Amino acid sequence: MAKLPEHVLIVGGGIIGLSSAHFLSEAGVQVTVIDQGKIGAACSHGNCGLINPSHVFPLPRPGAFKNAIKALLKPNGPFRVQPTLNPQLYFWLLRFARNGNLKAMRHAGWARHHLLTFSREFYRDFISGNQIDCDFEERGCLFVYGTKHTLDEHDQFDAMMTKEYGVGAEKLTGDELEKMEPAFLPGVAAGAWFYPQDAHLRADKLIKGWRKLLEERGVKFREMTRVSEFVPAQRQIKSIEVCDVNSNATETLPCDALVVATGSWTPMLNKQLGYKIPIQPGKGYSLTMPRPEICPKIPMILEDEKVAITPMASGYRLGSTMEFVGYDTTINPKRLELLTKGATKYMRDPVGKMIEEQWYGWRPMTPNGLPLIGPTPKYQNVFVAAGHNMIGIMTAPATGRLVSELILQKQPSIDPKPYAVA
Ligand SMILES: Cc1cc2nc3c(=O)[nH]c(=O)nc-3n(C[C@H](O)[C@H](O)[C@H](O)COP(=O)(O)OP(=O)(O)OC[C@H]3O[C@@H](n4cnc5c(N)ncnc54)[C@H](O)[C@@H]3O)c2cc1C
Repeated sequence: MAKLPEHVLIVGGGIIGLSSAHFLSEAGVQVTVIDQGKIGAACSHGNCGLINPSHVFPLPRPGAFKNAIKALLKPNGPFRVQPTLNPQLYFWLLRFARNGNLKAMRHAGWARHHLLTFSREFYRDFISGNQIDCDFEERGCLFVYGTKHTLDEHDQFDAMMTKEYGVGAEKLTGDELEKMEPAFLPGVAAGAWFYPQDAHLRADKLIKGWRKLLEERGVKFREMTRVSEFVPAQRQIKSIEVCDVNSNATETLPCDALVVATGSWTPMLNKQLGYKIPIQPGKGYSLTMPRPEICPKIPMILEDEKVAITPMASGYRLGSTMEFVGYDTTINPKRLELLTKGATKYMRDPVGKMIEEQWYGWRPMTPNGLPLIGPTPKYQNVFVAAGHNMIGIMTAPATGRLVSELILQKQPSIDPKPYAVA
């Protein structure tokens, strides 16, 4: 058995880096988290904060590709691909399309289910046990549909979810939905599926509280520090080169093991990893505002519009859209408008009095909807934990636990094969 690492460097201070730091430091390992920006300021910041065991099925599923093509043809629809000369995106889309079958969807469903169930339980105990102020609530989630046809299309998926994963829902008519959630305009929604086991939180507040806890435990954080090179020694990385993004000063940091939790940026480290990581940034937006006067109690996804509404104790957030536009950093007002339009169609009081934050994030998208968690084929002591698609917040605890088990050569609590890097 190889010597166990005493000091682990984690590249990436998003939710996945933090969760990995949590489980490693709990096991007594010395941990340093390095980020090129501020901790938690990238995709883990302004997302919808849904902690939904109901999200077992990945985006590629039977019919998804046809629906995506339909959505693409809609001018300013929620799904957009910017034509590019970069062949990587087309290869990725091809792989995504190939995974749109029942067998692949079920396989991904099981792997996601294992990550989701542990994480959901972990959050409940961890947040209350450590009194982390992050608006965590267990109110379920509504999948809302505008037409009877789309509402009924979900029947087959719900039946599978109930039978195979035990996460069934209650199907509501439009009237039942309005009774349960009076924030809806009357007569607009055809109905909804209510998933009672789902929960939600405010991810920016969770990260703030979690970081504080980790600092108290001795975890070190280095912000505005970009990792640029790995220094190989046979089949291991014994140190990395980092660069201060303000001063450009470089430094070499030794490590016993390395966790690469760099979300959408991971393919930029392909050369250093010696492996091609199949992640594309899937850009999404959110708007955060004070709670409107008639605020819904239950988070929801307006499925036909692809807009999520998260009512939080400290605010109200609309989020969604999926754009494949490379590493684009602009805020497109037309995409933000889609969010308010979706909410306006269904809600009595769709937006708060002022917009506190307009935000975008790059979801680290993989072609099969599964994250990559495990050692790299080239270096025994380098572990990837990236590609968490639309479920990074809701699967972070199980990811961090698995990363820690693999690094410390413990018996993994879930089968790591479905997430293997190679
Ligand atoms: C609109 C929207 C809504 C969403 N809603 C939900 C939801 O309701 N529930 C849910 O579970 N998920 C949701 N997601 C997805 C979720 O936000 C992501 O899956 C998750 O944040 C990914 O976390 P991460 O730690 O992998 O990446 P990030 O949070 O992006 O962190 C990666 C970090 O790595 C750093 N980094 C990159 N390269 C380097 C380098 N070379 N050196 C140093 N640092 C580096 C970056 O600066 C960044 O801080 C949503 C996403 C969007 C866009």
